[in-house]
Amino acid sequence: MKLDPQNIDQSVIKLAADIILQGGLVAFPTETVYGLGANALDERAVIKIFQAKRRPMDNPIIVHVADIEDVWVLAEEVPPSAELLMKRFWPGPLTFVLLRSELVPDVVTARLPSVCIRMPIHPVASRLISTAGVPIAAPSANLAGRPSPTTAQHVINDLWGEVDVILDAGETDYGLDSTILDLTCKPPTILRPGPITLEELRAVLGDVEVHPVAKAELTVEAAVAKSPGMKHKHYAPRAQMTLVEGDVEQIPSKINDLYSYYKGVEKSVGILATQETCDKYEAERVKVLGTRSNLKSIAKNLFKLLREFDDEGVDIILAEGVKPIGIGLAIMNRLRKASSLIVRVGPH
Ligand code: AMP
Ligand code: MG
Repeated sequence: MKLDPQNIDQSVIKLAADIILQGGLVAFPTETVYGLGANALDERAVIKIFQAKRRPMDNPIIVHVADIEDVWVLAEEVPPSAELLMKRFWPGPLTFVLLRSELVPDVVTARLPSVCIRMPIHPVASRLISTAGVPIAAPSANLAGRPSPTTAQHVINDLWGEVDVILDAGETDYGLDSTILDLTCKPPTILRPGPITLEELRAVLGDVEVHPVAKAELTVEAAVAKSPGMKHKHYAPRAQMTLVEGDVEQIPSKINDLYSYYKGVEKSVGILATQETCDKYEAERVKVLGTRSNLKSIAKNLFKLLREFDDEGVDIILAEGVKPIGIGLAIMNRLRKASSLIVRVGPH
């Protein structure tokens, strides 16, 4: 069902909220990506999310609220750092890991002692949660392992027949999943980089770390993963992807070498480039992510272009890396996790 986020039809929201209250599944837009929602307090409804996405049951789900007060209901303890960050960044694309209260069903947290909580700013998400009057558990609305959905069409492609209603309010703003910050440890640790950056969090809290697995560098073993989602393959297109990262001056020639090799063995190849470098390729399939001078533009297009290459049936994707600074850290996390090979050329 289509919705205009500037002029929301409350009868559509009411219909979707009733589905949530009856234990059904609703796909809905947020400012990050589309979510697949169920009543977080209804264990049977949440199990349907895992079935629809074919998500491993050991991977817990973020709980979404429309009112800050709900955090005190879902969490056993709310540290002062959480209050500071909520004031600064909520509603918005920042998720907290906090000690859970007894109200949260085991299936939501995969039996962890903690729960992930976020308050989205998208008007459709916020209206849906407040109309339902219950917290909504919602992972990204894609099949497990696939790129996160940034349009309703992506949800249709992955989950048609698995969900009771899809609310379509157009393309999402950030195009990248939320930042996940663990506040149950010291110092606070980013488990998944996202639109709220390390630099912004440090400006408020001082000491903040990035979990080594969240950098997604290949040298880190899955065994030290802290967020269960860290060890699962993620965000991946069907095509086999190689990421070339490091010195921007050297990236295009490395990609051109790889391109010649794959052409030689008769593979169809797509290149994920940036505005600054796209004219350095002679390949027929070159897609421009955005400009290096505005990494947000790259974040917004990343998952969409991975899916486009899949629709076009390419065998191989060769992708350029960006500097892992600001939202670039989140972009590199997604690119690295989606790649089966990472090639480094010189320093960043
Ligand atoms: P998604 O649902 O697709 O946005 O992914 C949610 C991410 O949050 C997954 O990587 C989960 O592993 C992670 N997550 C959810 N709950 C927790 C938790 N209690 N502790 C650590 N990570 C969590
Ligand atoms: Mg996901």
